Amino acid sequence: MNSTREDGREEEVQTFSASHKSKALVPGSVLFPSPSPSPQGEGIVAGAQASIRDVPRESFLPLPKGEGRGEGEGGENPSSIPELSETPNTHVPEGSRRSTIWTRRNFVQLLAAWSGVLASRTTDRAAETVNARIAKVESFPINYPVVGHFKFFEGRGGRPNGRPAVVIKITADNGAIGWGQSVPTPRWSYETLETVHSTIKRYLAPELIGRDPFDLEGIQSAMSRDIAPSFSTGQPICKAGIDLALFDLTGKLLKQSPAQRWGRTGRDRIPLSWTLNPRSLNEIEDLIAQGRARGYRHFNVKVAPDTKFDLELCRTVKRLVPDGFLWADANGGYDEATALAVAPKLADIGVAVFEQPLPANRLGGYRRLKQQGALPIIMDEGIVSSVELDEFIQFGLLDGVAMKPARCGGLTEARRQVEMVGKAGLMFLGSGLTDPDVSLAASLALYGAYDLKYPAALNGPQFLSESILKRPFQVADGQLAVPKGPGLGVEVDEGKIKPMLIKEV
Ligand SMILES: [Mg+2]
Repeated sequence: MNSTREDGREEEVQTFSASHKSKALVPGSVLFPSPSPSPQGEGIVAGAQASIRDVPRESFLPLPKGEGRGEGEGGENPSSIPELSETPNTHVPEGSRRSTIWTRRNFVQLLAAWSGVLASRTTDRAAETVNARIAKVESFPINYPVVGHFKFFEGRGGRPNGRPAVVIKITADNGAIGWGQSVPTPRWSYETLETVHSTIKRYLAPELIGRDPFDLEGIQSAMSRDIAPSFSTGQPICKAGIDLALFDLTGKLLKQSPAQRWGRTGRDRIPLSWTLNPRSLNEIEDLIAQGRARGYRHFNVKVAPDTKFDLELCRTVKRLVPDGFLWADANGGYDEATALAVAPKLADIGVAVFEQPLPANRLGGYRRLKQQGALPIIMDEGIVSSVELDEFIQFGLLDGVAMKPARCGGLTEARRQVEMVGKAGLMFLGSGLTDPDVSLAASLALYGAYDLKYPAALNGPQFLSESILKRPFQVADGQLAVPKGPGLGVEVDEGKIKPMLIKEV
């Protein structure tokens, strides 16, 4: 199917078949062709078994474009995609159809890989010339008013109705400022506005003062010592806000956008998915009409635990939007038997992916859902650090990940995971935690630089009515522009923070 983008370009939107096993949705297959092919490639190599050890913590070099997983090369299960070389000049497995031919594409890949190396080295050198120390860390707990119904932000027990967030301001001794944002969502995970604010104030801010903002490894290590891991990263949403503020600060000091820092071009606009969380089936048509009125063409639905309701919901959405990418997210709300029973039915309706069907710790269930193969299994809540991601990949428990910098401790870790997912030949989807402003900017930076191929479930602009930015994000034709300025590319208006402050924390 072809549709016309806002910039007038024709884009092809892939229509997915119902059956994952029989035909279809190939992990990594192209939903939106890149508007401008990245000279650095997608950073994706199909079929290789990723190991956390293969991804250096502080040396993310863009990988050459993975061959054999582009549009029209579908039909393969992730495990059956031929293994390809990580770099253009390394050994290609015997039997590969491209194993012995040094093509023009190989040459372009080599140039792309080296341009990434040069971009990183330039950044490293630039960082060495910047002499700055962290002088001040401030935390502002605020509340965004919510428009419409979304199950995660209902006010109960005296809590304010809205989207809580903590804005973080880090000031360097040379006066440079970096802004970050933590987006606790207590009905989604255990962090609250209060825990984020108090952890920053009492534990993390004192640790940061006097440190080199470029010493991310040292800072991450210190934060992990002070707030230790439990099963995974301790308080990742809180730490994400610090990571974002440091990224913004150092990017501004370097005068570089995220894509420039990473040596990537990616895409300028991110098509969005409209979230459907109806309380009754009668609401669906109106909710879809609201999304369409803003130019949205793709829809993600919240499902579980009522399968009768869920199937009717998906059937209705598919009938009203037959060509949209339909994405079902259970937020861990099914048990294994129910998930196994409903997955083939969702596939028959035309649902493209099945996100977090089971609670995060039901590993055996994930294995059996993968074995069933009715739909691609996408992880969200279950992947916080790259350690779990490595385990899930090694044990074959997933087909892809819905990335969220907010969930996994920030951009540093999220970027590492995007590269691991690509290297394993799995699907990289973009999602969020109803991110506002600075948090949204970070997600857009990552998804743009890494050329996201699916509509992003970034529903901050759908549900939130206020902004603390000088120039708030505007959805146009169902898409958001990736900010291009230094740091995270957005400017915070401090005057807008004050009226949104929560005083009793
Ligand atoms: Mg989710």
